[in-house]
Amino acid sequence: SSLDFSGYLKNRIRTVPDWPQQGVMFRDITPLLQNPKTFRMLIDIFVYRYMEEKVDLIAGLDARGFIIGSVLAYELNVGFVPIRKKGKLPFKTVSEEYELEYGNATVEMHTDACKPGDRVVLIDDLVATGGTMLAGAKLLKKLGAEVLEAAAIIDLPELGGSQLVRDSGLELFTVCSYD
Ligand code: AMP
Repeated sequence: SSLDFSGYLKNRIRTVPDWPQQGVMFRDITPLLQNPKTFRMLIDIFVYRYMEEKVDLIAGLDARGFIIGSVLAYELNVGFVPIRKKGKLPFKTVSEEYELEYGNATVEMHTDACKPGDRVVLIDDLVATGGTMLAGAKLLKKLGAEVLEAAAIIDLPELGGSQLVRDSGLELFTVCSYD
């Protein structure tokens, strides 16, 4: 239909096989961002979803969550908070370690990035195992924020991450999915 935004956006997501390693199908959103129509369409999907939700803050995950998260925050007229990979933030941080397929990773957020009761939408480009999204949500909750919803452009449901995120009690919204 004329309202199949998801299919329209999917046409601008490039799949790069075996990157960054053998067996990974990398979903590259740079063509979607590069095209003004799909970039706007993508941001507007999130803007319409949250514009009446009394959001206090958008938290974006390093690094592609920054691109969409900051534009979304600007459009909603709320602040933006970066959740970064370990060692990048200069002030006092809270941190959360999580498992990767090989080894582990840590995400960090400034201790004054949000305050108890803040209503936050957490955003990233893609949910694979769900580890990154869950770690980000834990950081926000540590500081007493309310995570209204986790949001991503892409879901890879076969990896089970979106189910894991939802099983943890978080609401999750995704725009496109790849089986
Ligand atoms: P995960 O923590 O396993 O859910 O992985 C999600 C994070 O890794 C996101 O920040 C994504 O940008 C990145 N990522 C994982 N798998 C892919 C993939 N197949 N294509 C693009 N990015 C990915």
